[in-house]
Amino acid sequence: MNIVTNFSLINYNTFGVDATANQFTSVSSIKELKKIISTNESKEKIFIGGGSNILITKKIEGLVIHLNIKGISSKKLDNNYSEVNIKAGENWNEAVKWCLKNNLGGIENLSLIPGNTGAAPIQNIGAYGVELKDVFTSCEVLDLKTNEISEFSKEDCQFEYRNSIFKKNRNYIILSVKLKLTNTNHKLKIDYGSINEKLVLLGIENPKIADIANVVTQIRKEKLPDPKKLGNSGSFFKNPIINKRQLEQLKINFCDIPNYKISEESYKIPAGWLIEKAGFKGKRIKDYGVHKNQALVLVNYGNATGKEILKFSLSIQKAIKFIFNIELELEVNII
Ligand SMILES: Cc1cc2nc3c(=O)[nH]c(=O)nc-3n(C[C@H](O)[C@H](O)[C@H](O)COP(=O)(O)OP(=O)(O)OC[C@H]3O[C@@H](n4cnc5c(N)ncnc54)[C@H](O)[C@@H]3O)c2cc1C
Repeated sequence: MNIVTNFSLINYNTFGVDATANQFTSVSSIKELKKIISTNESKEKIFIGGGSNILITKKIEGLVIHLNIKGISSKKLDNNYSEVNIKAGENWNEAVKWCLKNNLGGIENLSLIPGNTGAAPIQNIGAYGVELKDVFTSCEVLDLKTNEISEFSKEDCQFEYRNSIFKKNRNYIILSVKLKLTNTNHKLKIDYGSINEKLVLLGIENPKIADIANVVTQIRKEKLPDPKKLGNSGSFFKNPIINKRQLEQLKINFCDIPNYKISEESYKIPAGWLIEKAGFKGKRIKDYGVHKNQALVLVNYGNATGKEILKFSLSIQKAIKFIFNIELELEVNII
C-alpha cells in the first residue's frame, strides 16, 4: 500500500476538477483499509470510490483513500432468488453486467450509472423506476469510530429518495453490498421514461433483462453527457418534494408545472424544469455552466474549479428560492 504525496485527483472525480490531495492511497483489502486508518496520522480522511458524485472545492490537506476492494459472487437462495455479494470497489455497471451474464434480474434498469458499488447505498441510487433499496438486503460496514465491522440490514440503512443513514453519518464505510435478485420470472419495469417506446421502436416484443439493460444504456447515452468528454457529476440537485398547498399556489403562476404525486400530501417536482424555467439551461460562464440539454447537470468545460462550480450552484439555488420559493437540495457531495 503506497502513499503518494501531493497527488492530483483529476482522474478520480468525474467533474474533472484538478484538485490536489496532500496524501493519496488506494486500498484493495479490508486489512489494508484497517491498517491505514489506524496508522495514518492525518486528521482529515476522505474516502472515494469512482468519484462520480463529488465536487472537490479545495486542496485536501489530509489523506484520500480510494476504496478498491474487489470481488463478486452469488449463491442460490431457492429456485426463484439468488443473493449477490458485491465488494465496494467493483464498478457498479460492471456488476450489473455480471448479474445479467448470470441471468440475475432486478438491477437492469440501473445500468450505466457511474461509480462503484460501495457508494450505491449512500444515496440509494435510482433510475428508470428502480432504486437500490428494491433489491438490497444488507451491507457490511466498517465503523471508523470503533474500527469494528458489522452488517447493516435494509432497515438499518434508512433508505429514502437519494438518501440513507450513510449520508448522515460519515463514520460508516461500506465494504460490500448484498442484493436479492431473481433467477427466473424476472419482474420487468418498462413503464418508466422511454423504455417501452424504445422497445417498440426496436421491435422487441418479449423483452428479457438484457434487452432492458441495452435500452436503458442507449437512452442514457443519448441523454446524459459522458464525463470522459465533458466533466460532470450527473444530477447536481435532488428533485424537490413539496406539499399539496405549495403545489396549488405554484400552479397559479406556473400552470404547466410538472409534478409527480408520491403520497396524498407530497409531490415531486423535476428540478431540471425549475432550473430551465429560471433561465439557466445552457448557460455558460468561463469554464462552467449548465448542460445545454440537461438542466439538472452542471458541467466543467475544462478548467473550472470546484469553488467556481459550487458558487454557481448557490446562485441557481438562490434563483429557484426567489422564483418558486423552493429549496433545492444538493445531490452531489461537496468536499
Ligand atoms: C453521468 C452521471 C450519471 C449519473 N446518473 C445517476 C443516476 O441515474 N442515479 C443515481 O442515483 N446517481 C447517478 N449518478 C451519481 C453517481 O453515479 C452515484 O451517486 C454513484 O453511486 C456514486 O458512486 P461513486 O463510487 O462514484 O461515489 P464517489 O463519488 O466516489 O463518492 C460519493 C460519496 O460517497 C462516499 N463514499 C464513496 N464510497 C464509499 C464507501 N464505500 N463507503 C462510505 N462512503 C463512501 C464519498 O466520500 C462521497 O461522499 C450519476 C453520475 C454521473 C456522473
